[in-house]
Amino acid sequence: MNLANTRSRGANLADDPRGDGNADSLTPAVSVRDLRKSYKRRDGEEVLAVDSVTLDVAPGEFVVLLGPSGCGKSTLLRCIAGLEQPHSGTINLHGHTSYSSQRRLDDPPEKRNLGMMFQSYALWPHMTVFDNVAYPLRARKAAKNDVSARVERVLEMIGIPELGRQYPGQMSGGQQQRVALARALVSNEGLILFDEPLSNVDAKVREQLRLELVLMQRDIGFAAIYVTHDQIEAMELADRIAVMQNGKVAQCGTPREIYETPSNQYVGRFVGSTNELNGRVTELTGDDLVRVDTQAGSVLATRGSQDVTTGAEVSVMARPEKCRFETSPSASVNAWEGTIAQTMFLGTHVEHLVKLADSDVTFLVRQSEDNIDAPRVGDRTFVSAAPEHLRALSS
Ligand code: ADP
Ligand code: MG
Repeated sequence: MNLANTRSRGANLADDPRGDGNADSLTPAVSVRDLRKSYKRRDGEEVLAVDSVTLDVAPGEFVVLLGPSGCGKSTLLRCIAGLEQPHSGTINLHGHTSYSSQRRLDDPPEKRNLGMMFQSYALWPHMTVFDNVAYPLRARKAAKNDVSARVERVLEMIGIPELGRQYPGQMSGGQQQRVALARALVSNEGLILFDEPLSNVDAKVREQLRLELVLMQRDIGFAAIYVTHDQIEAMELADRIAVMQNGKVAQCGTPREIYETPSNQYVGRFVGSTNELNGRVTELTGDDLVRVDTQAGSVLATRGSQDVTTGAEVSVMARPEKCRFETSPSASVNAWEGTIAQTMFLGTHVEHLVKLADSDVTFLVRQSEDNIDAPRVGDRTFVSAAPEHLRALSS
């Protein structure tokens, strides 16, 4: 288990939420092992929506499941919530086994001690904030005194103790989000599952709600699994991102690890923009460098994974901000001659499209500020990238 990236915030709330003495600050909030779930399509074809997924979430940790539509994010989340039955594997929540194919265990959702916040907040418009938040407890037939004590506690925690008597329609988007979060937290403060909760909100408001959500999560300290297809959202919220590809976790790491050291082409393309040269590895040099014969000549690149060996078909990827302009090719190991096709001023940075000579490749070069020495549209130039910034990745 990797706890190195865990912030030990709010451990008092996340500790032992089941009150059964099983959990401590080192027991993962979620521990999924080798989970599989398939669906039968109408045409009879089987879709493996979740394919041998193994994932840990530490107490207080914010993990984002990131990937395009249909890659299995919601199915994985729903299996953890107990809303879908997996075919095999195990799910432990706070050290308690909630699902095990081998032991034939499958707790219903209300026994899993987690909160959920799905696509729209789905607050009841005819109920007060207090009643909305109390809903999951009353559905579970909790004692009346217990209900008011818990609802008041979470409204306090979320910073809206005075809004209990109001109706959702009278509130701002940010306040509604707080109410929805309070309702998710009311039965459990240790773990919340989110399935694209901000997808129906327009971009500007979404940015603001995201920031507010992350501050509340850091403050209260619940563990979270958050599903999104939006890489910016993922990088902003996550302690760790699990990038999903066809039901599998392609890579799991901090936003920086995912961006700087993607483990395959899919991850490299999905997160951030990248330049690509395709080719075949001709030589392993040193520990982690390879020579690759590409359509823009021979390049020296860093090995992106163990399966990048002599003869392998790879894509060499370079982030646009790691590419430089050179006046002559001798200045660097990897340099390509080209012509500036377009320059775009984007406020915080400038982007140049460079058409490489003798190939059909266009490179994107990003510079952090308006550089008066930068080449202009139509100029011939050289683009370079150091071997440590070129990653040879397999598919
Ligand atoms: P995501 O949330 O990443 O968009 P989903 O988990 O919803 O992806 O879906 C993963 C795959 O499982 C998709 O191919 C989808 O069509 C299929 N799928 C999801 N739910 C069902 C269902 N109830 N019946 C049949 N196929 C399903
Ligand atoms: Mg989904």
